[in-house]
Amino acid sequence: MPRRTTAILVPVSYLKDLDYSVVQQCMHCGLCLPTCPTYMETKLERNSPRGRIALMRAIADGQLEASKAFAEEMYFCLGCLACETACPAGVDYTQLFEMARAEAERSRVLERPGRRLFRQLLLDVLFREQWRLRLVGRLLWLYQSLGLQSLVRRSGLLRVLPASWRALEAKTPTIRPRFTPQLVAPEETPPGNATGAHYRVGLLSGCVQDLIYSDVNRDTADVLLANRCAVVTPPGQGCCGSLHAHNGEYELAKDFARRLLDRFDLDRLDAIVTNAAGCGSHLKHFDRLLQDDPRYAAKARQWSEKVKDISEWLVEIGFRPPTQKPTEARVTYHDACHLCHGQKIVAQPRELLATIPGLEVKPLAESMWCCGSAGIYNLIQPEMADKLLQRKLDHIEATGADILATGNPGCLLQIQNGLAARGRKIEVVHPVTLLARAYRT
Ligand code: SF4
Ligand code: SF4
Repeated sequence: MPRRTTAILVPVSYLKDLDYSVVQQCMHCGLCLPTCPTYMETKLERNSPRGRIALMRAIADGQLEASKAFAEEMYFCLGCLACETACPAGVDYTQLFEMARAEAERSRVLERPGRRLFRQLLLDVLFREQWRLRLVGRLLWLYQSLGLQSLVRRSGLLRVLPASWRALEAKTPTIRPRFTPQLVAPEETPPGNATGAHYRVGLLSGCVQDLIYSDVNRDTADVLLANRCAVVTPPGQGCCGSLHAHNGEYELAKDFARRLLDRFDLDRLDAIVTNAAGCGSHLKHFDRLLQDDPRYAAKARQWSEKVKDISEWLVEIGFRPPTQKPTEARVTYHDACHLCHGQKIVAQPRELLATIPGLEVKPLAESMWCCGSAGIYNLIQPEMADKLLQRKLDHIEATGADILATGNPGCLLQIQNGLAARGRKIEVVHPVTLLARAYRT
């Protein structure tokens, strides 16, 4: 269980404590503005990266106190990092964004009893232990598999709920009947000869991924095994803390990172593989997250060097192209923000898809534009999230594709829900699932 944060000193100000070279990097050129989804929707400077960075710098300089307006602006930002890709000055928006949200939480300017309770229950209670998430997941699975969810939906009972709750209910993910430990053994070796493995890799099972996309974990393990990688999936991994780091709970994120580091024997692994872009982008920054922790700093540096997205790892080791045609279909690919902007991984997933016989890859307009999922953004900013989703769905439909592939559970769910609401029968899958199917054919 991760250590509680009470013994940890919380900085007086996250933004004032931040390395000033990060704070002052923006040269106000505005080149990032056309790539920022919130700015392009509102055309307001304060909703742009440049405007947000100016607010952050004013706080770091002591010219402004963190206010409610500041905090609301930081939560209106998607954290999609498109501005980071566009910026010629190399602004580290990832760090600025995390510190700005941590500053907003530290200053308690958004404090309301309901909000506090929601955040505590979600971030500190539910996500602290994987068994709690699985318990809730199991109950939800029973509710869904016994037909109670459809019954409640048909009965009209939901009409008594406020509109925002009804919208939330419609987004409830379908829970898988089996979670990762029932699908993936703690250690698996390539079929035939165990000594034939060329690599030994650790597999991240994730938290939400474990409940709603555990089959993607199985697919990932199968693809790794097919490429002569022994797969180690330690039990008790839990949440990596990405949700916490991106939502102002920086100290909690450190606790979760330490727990994960304790679960893996890094000296015996060539890589740590993740199939969730949002997690991968955070996992690669454990070195920075724990740089001041004398017990964990060295291991965190080793960790950050070894973390790979599944597509990145497969291309790096020269994966075996499948030879059989699983199906004939048109597929299009949506770049998850934290894969393309957060990790600069763009070519590799496309390379995987291009090698699968029978798939015709159709280009997607604005493939790097956020789909509105953005962690829990679609729950806390439903209006903007829906605008972005509709824009994404229009582009997906225009491709005429039968399958949409994307490498992040949040995007998978957001797009799946959006297409279902439109009544469109387009399959939404992780690229690794398509590769696994081809290997199995
Ligand atoms: S992270 Fe995304 S939404 Fe936020 S400022 Fe940058 S481009 Fe805009
Ligand atoms: S963040 Fe980068 S691109 Fe945007 S205004 Fe500043 S320097 Fe220019």
